[in-house]
Amino acid sequence: MCAQSIPPLSPATLYTEFQQAPPAAVMDAIRGEAEAIMGRLGIGLEWRSLAGATGSEVSIQLAVIRFRGRCDVNGLSPHRVQPGALGWTHESDGVILPFGAVDCDRIRTFLQADLLGVPAGGRDLVFGRAVGRVLAHELYHIFTRSPHHSPEGVGKAAYAVRDLLAGRFVFDASESMELRNGQLRVDAAEPTH
Ligand SMILES: [Zn+2]
Repeated sequence: MCAQSIPPLSPATLYTEFQQAPPAAVMDAIRGEAEAIMGRLGIGLEWRSLAGATGSEVSIQLAVIRFRGRCDVNGLSPHRVQPGALGWTHESDGVILPFGAVDCDRIRTFLQADLLGVPAGGRDLVFGRAVGRVLAHELYHIFTRSPHHSPEGVGKAAYAVRDLLAGRFVFDASESMELRNGQLRVDAAEPTH
């Protein structure tokens, strides 16, 4: 038995919808990275497909994330491009709604020149991990109910290529505190679509 007391994860339900199903290796990396980041903040993710949702599920914390474009590493080109926002959350009258998007095409475009420098056998993992970080950033907004950014870490406003490709990328202490505070709220957000 482990002598350390590890606080139980507070569950959050994450509904996902992919425009195109990603390869298994990319999906594993997306899940692994998002779960690692959110798990360190005390939030456990329960993954469900939006297509399978019945509307009767009850969850204190939930998020619905649509993955746009192709979440794979086929057809990389060596061009460096600044493609625009990598993800976003929906807002109504200044209130963050539990709906977000992650743009796989833009993440791939942003990273492609550097992904070509990664051995082909490791690209699914590195790309999926990057997608998982953008996902964690959007979940950060949704679970803190805040559009604000922090100076460092996953909640910062702008990501560099190296942030997305580095072996490890974590929230800083103030973000953790903000998320833990957000986690205590019990006012479930109402879907408005
Ligand atoms: Zn943001």
